[in-house]
Amino acid sequence: MRRIAVINQKGGVGKTTTTVNLGAALARRGRRVCLVDLDPQAHATTHLGVEPDGQKPSIYHVLLGQCYIQQVRRQVAEGLWLVPADLDLAAAEVELAGVVGREVILREALQKDEETFDYLLMDCGPSLGVLTLNALAAADEVLIPLQPHFLALHGLSKLLETTALVARRIHPGLRVSGIVICLFDSSTRLAQEVVADLHTFLERSRGQGLPWSCARIFASKIRRNIKLAECPSHGQTIFSYAPKSPGAADYAALAEEIDGAGATSFPVGMSATEVE
Ligand code: ADP
Ligand code: MG
Repeated sequence: MRRIAVINQKGGVGKTTTTVNLGAALARRGRRVCLVDLDPQAHATTHLGVEPDGQKPSIYHVLLGQCYIQQVRRQVAEGLWLVPADLDLAAAEVELAGVVGREVILREALQKDEETFDYLLMDCGPSLGVLTLNALAAADEVLIPLQPHFLALHGLSKLLETTALVARRIHPGLRVSGIVICLFDSSTRLAQEVVADLHTFLERSRGQGLPWSCARIFASKIRRNIKLAECPSHGQTIFSYAPKSPGAADYAALAEEIDGAGATSFPVGMSATEVE
């Protein structure tokens, strides 16, 4: 099972859109995919047509030790399951403050899970708090959606430092596997420049043994596409809402890159260039 945390402490960069539609794209490739919504805003949950009304147990109850993950998970499409969030999750940050080992609760809950999946995708909120730390501790890979604007690299350094810290303190196997450019507008020079800077930045870290020294920038960029912005309010993924849209094509291409025959699945600790 590949456990992937979708992270960026900035809001509105495409984390939820990527978690949901990449998950759906992988499921359409015949994979068993479990999505975990770790954002108190519960956007991934609503995006998949599940109402976060506080009536049914959610990831909040799992983190507080009141439920097993399998009691909370529900199937939302063929090959696709969701561990929903609800608005109570905002309180978890405070309620877990005094709990010893609070960063590894999700990891332990997943270890007790009897079901197996090909992919576990965790959607995180726009902070680097205890919920995101739980995702980082439970994941083996970090996937960073990035919107190419002029402060993007600035925020990225902070995020990478946090990943390095988590890797050092609680999870040595953690690696940043890739960066996916979202809300891409190929016609602007700025977008092209940010992508070029990003390549230079990653190139410089190659071979330094940092958690991101094997990260790559996915060739499949997610273009700005209005259909992607519309589908959450219909409680549908892009593949059921607008299967012929550029958004569906982009997420299918990303899934192919991550999961297809040509996907680089390099051993932890080995850089992509060593594999090539
Ligand atoms: P995050 O989870 O990082 O906060 P979202 O995935 O919710 O970001 O995206 C922020 C907003 O941008 C949402 O309204 C979403 O529907 C929209 N959006 C995301 N990706 C695209 C895209 N490629 N084209 C158009 N709108 C998008
Ligand atoms: Mg989100």
